[in-house]
Amino acid sequence: MKSFDLTGRITRYQSGFFVVSTPEGVFTCVIRGRLKRRTFQGDILGIGDDVNITRLTADTGVIEDILPRKNALVRMDPTPRGDYQQILLANPDQLVAIFACANPEPHLRMLDRFLVVGEKQRVPSLIVVNKVDLENLEKVKEKFKIYPDLGYPVVYTSAKAGIGIEELKARLVNKISAFAGPSGVGKSSLLNAIQPGLGVAVNEISEATNKGKHTTVVRELFPLNEGGFVADLPGIRRLALWDTEPEELDGYFPELRDLVSECQFNDCTHRNEPGCAVVAAVDTGKVSQERYVSYLKLRYGDEAELEG
Ligand code: GDP
Ligand code: ZN
Repeated sequence: MKSFDLTGRITRYQSGFFVVSTPEGVFTCVIRGRLKRRTFQGDILGIGDDVNITRLTADTGVIEDILPRKNALVRMDPTPRGDYQQILLANPDQLVAIFACANPEPHLRMLDRFLVVGEKQRVPSLIVVNKVDLENLEKVKEKFKIYPDLGYPVVYTSAKAGIGIEELKARLVNKISAFAGPSGVGKSSLLNAIQPGLGVAVNEISEATNKGKHTTVVRELFPLNEGGFVADLPGIRRLALWDTEPEELDGYFPELRDLVSECQFNDCTHRNEPGCAVVAAVDTGKVSQERYVSYLKLRYGDEAELEG
């Protein structure tokens, strides 16, 4: 017997209230008490989750159940009472990593870190390189040319000159996309170019959340007119490498994943052991030097770097 009225998707969270979009309209909901009985410290629900609700009034309701979540972008928030696991976005279809080709210079270590987060949380990544009006495009492409072969498509854009906007938009339609990138790369400008007002709306939410120390967390999925949603990922630095063991990391580099079984020692650290297939592949150029450096930094860099 059905114990709910409607199924919908959480599109906004603020101060304990969830906005659920359903085929019959939008309902502001609280969570049924029994769902809250959990042992771990963390969010029970996040934007992007699909839920069953019962109606209370024409525009309010109660969340009764959560539908299975295929994946989630999560972050650890250290609190005096222990780490709290925040769900930044549930059921993302892709992580969109935005950089500028110049002003500010792209930080490839940070890009590789995003990609590792995506691999770990089982979210495909798309790379956007903005501000291509500032540089020679062939030169820019040279810098990012290894990524498509690794499974990460790259879209070259200029929000200013209107380059690549349609291509990017086509990749967003009917998907839930999480945007991440350092500030100043043109994220808001790009979102505004894709859909007027979108960048402004996304910024308002991010600013509301990041202002001051005692913040009101607001998370929102913004609908695209053609279908699909975009969300901003704040605080990427603390995103999701917190529970990563150093030995897992090679599994999050697609070009290393299959090589490691060929290393002579099965506890190979891929630095200076004899018979290391990773080092051999770097020497022959099969694995890029840059990516190998990113791997080493993530694995052996100071602990802070691993934990974010
Ligand atoms: P955000 O911090 O990532 O949201 O970046 P903004 O959208 O606020 O843009 C930061 C600065 O870069 C602004 O001065 C924009 O005008 C500029 N900008 C954004 N996109 C482009 C672009 O494609 N080309 C150039 N040359 N400048 C851009
Ligand atoms: Zn090795």
